[in-house]
This record gives sequence, C-alpha cells and structure tokens, in this order.
Amino acid sequence: MNDPFQNSIKQISESAEILGILPGALKKLTEPQRVVTVHFPVVMDSGEEKIFYGLRSQHNNARGPYKGGIRFSPEVNESEVKALSSWMTWKCAVADIPFGGGKGGVVVDTRLLSKGELEKVARGFVRALFDVLGPNKDVPAPDMYTNSETMDIMVDEYSKIAGARAEATFTGKSIGNGGSEGRTEATGFGGAVVLKLLAEKFSLKPEETKIAIQGIGNVGQYFGIFAEKQGFKIVALSDSKGGIYNEDGIDIKDALAYKNTHGSLASYEKASFVSNEDLLLLPVDVLVPSALENVITAENASKIHAKYIIEMANGPVTPEADVLLEEKGIISVPDILANSGGVATSYFEWYQNMHKETWTKEDVLSKLTEKMTKAFNDVWAVKTEKNISTRKASYVVALQRVIDAGK
Ligand code: GLU
Repeated sequence: MNDPFQNSIKQISESAEILGILPGALKKLTEPQRVVTVHFPVVMDSGEEKIFYGLRSQHNNARGPYKGGIRFSPEVNESEVKALSSWMTWKCAVADIPFGGGKGGVVVDTRLLSKGELEKVARGFVRALFDVLGPNKDVPAPDMYTNSETMDIMVDEYSKIAGARAEATFTGKSIGNGGSEGRTEATGFGGAVVLKLLAEKFSLKPEETKIAIQGIGNVGQYFGIFAEKQGFKIVALSDSKGGIYNEDGIDIKDALAYKNTHGSLASYEKASFVSNEDLLLLPVDVLVPSALENVITAENASKIHAKYIIEMANGPVTPEADVLLEEKGIISVPDILANSGGVATSYFEWYQNMHKETWTKEDVLSKLTEKMTKAFNDVWAVKTEKNISTRKASYVVALQRVIDAGK
C-alpha cells in the first residue's frame, strides 16, 4: 500500500540511523508540528452554497517559516499533504534556504468550477487559514492546479484582512504583483543544472545522452527546454493522455506548440505514441518523472532501462522501488534535491519582497545555479564519504541541518 506519509518516514529512517538518531527523536522530526483542517463556504454560480474542505500541514519551522505549495485537487488528503510538507522541510534544508516545510490543499476538481468559483475557493481558503499564515509564519506557493493567478488572488485576500499589503506571504505571484523574474521556469531550470552536474560526474556526453520526460506541465517542459539547450537529446515526452517517442530526438518547443494547438501530444506526427507506463521503460539513459507521485513502484522498477533518474515530481519513486533501483545500480537524484530550484527561487522572491528589491532574470538564474550547484556538491560529498545512495545522502544533509537549527 502506497501511503505517502508512511513512505516519507521510510525514506528518512535509514539516513536517521546513519546519524544515530533515536526513534523518539525521529518521530519529532517526521510528524508535522501542526495540521490545520478547515471547512469553508463558497456561493457557487447557481446560488447554492457549497462547503469545501482543505488543510495545511505545517511540518517543521526550525530553520524558518513554514514554506510550501497549495494544491487544488480532488485527490488531496491528509496523508499526502503531510508527506508533501515533510518533503518541503528536507528540500528547503538541502537547498539551504531559511525556511521550514509546509503544504496545503483543497479538495476540488478545478475542471468543474468556473473562474469566478475558483477565485472564491482561493479567497475562502485564505480567510479560513488567515491566522496561521504570514511572511514570518507560513509562506505558501503554487502547486498542482494552482498558479501565479491563484497566488495573486490569495495575496489580495490576505492583504484585505490584514489591512496592509502583505505580498511576502505568498510566492509564485505574477511579476506585476511582486513575483520574481525566473520563478516560472525555476524548478525545471534547477533540474537541468542537476542534470549537467550529474553528466559531469559520470562523463556523459550531452549529445549522446537520451532523456525521457514523463509530464510536460510547468516543471517537465522547462526541464526539457533547458536540457535541450545544454545539448541533451530528449527522445520522449508525455502529458496526462499519453506520450511520444522518437529515438532520434524530439524538438521540444515544436512538440509543445503542437500540444497547445491540438490539446494533446498523442497524434504528433514526428514521433510514435507511447503510453505513460511504457515511457518509463524506454531504452534511455536518463528518466525524468515530472508529474505524479508513486509512478515507479515495485512492479515496474526492475523493468527500467535508464541508468539515471532525476525526480522532478515530488515522491515519484516508492521506497520498495528505491531498494530495487539501488540493487540495479541505478542512480536516482531525489526530489528533495532535484526539484528544489522552485522553492529556492521562492526564497529569492520572498527576499526581494521583504527588502523591496527587484532582481533581473539573469541575476535570479545565476543565483539559482549557484544554489543548486552547492546543494548538489554538498550531497555528493556525503554520498562519497559514506558510500551511500544520493537519496540517503540528501536526507543525511537535510536532517543534520534541521537538527542543528533545532538545537
Ligand atoms: N510546490 C513547489 C514544491 O513542491 C514549490 C513550493 C514553494 O515554492 O514554496 O517544491
């Protein structure tokens, strides 16, 4: 059974053992400090009042305010949000930014609501959570099915209640509304920096390195664009309806333009169709799950051909699969390192808001490159010294930093 929160505990326990952390102390580090659940009313376009359910898990604030996205999805549940908030704690620690971990969600299918109704859901959620949010308390950001527009609405609602403009309470806002240059592409860009560093470690030539990306939402598409810019060969891509594969390479911008006009990649004529399940098993060098949790499991792990996995989604590999991948000698760069570019740039945005500064995109991306490189090298040093997997090394680095801050 893939219970995300139990998985998040399993992932960390071996690293905790390496550091000699006792079970009692580990429980304090893995359980969220607070989980706030709310029910709030929204008047729908029909005039009917509907009650929505949402929650915010504030996992750990030893290193700074809770930080993490808010997702709008019918699948949102307590275990998932708790796991995601825990991953944020470790992610912020690996990236070495002064935030803790948080995550929130509302159970809602965004496809079934009008724009106006969605705005009311965003406002209602902020009203319900007002007391526990703030630039020095808890700073949300976008996540699945929320975006800069959602954050703009949330800032507006929060500021109205606070009686003062409070833009640093949310990150991932639009540029005109206090957002940071580079935030949109940051997660994918950071992943491409990790890819480059990994390729250097293993002497992979970009032009000979084949990559399959599962999911071309915001994260997957920018990962692909920047990887392609570095000369890597993207041979497979997918959206929720399925994917495309061409062993000679796919022009990612052309494929994205096709998806924009046709609604999906499925009938793209310059590549053949491949299902999302089969995409994971293609004969590629690097596999990049960029969409959903738990896609690499005990069932398919042994069939994976890639030698490297870069986890751009949160939690795409189950702990059981992780053991099998390690046995096969596959190097997996974990989510808490690979996709930390998003939250690192959220920190830059928060910093600019707090200090009334505006940085250029070049500035942001060069600072981000520095942060990702430092995080990668810190993890690699521990991996080499202790001869452990990249995931375990990432957790060792993160745990040590959170424990040091808590002292
Ligand atoms: N939702 C993103 C993540 O999972 C970003 C969170 C943030 O920027 O606070 O990392």
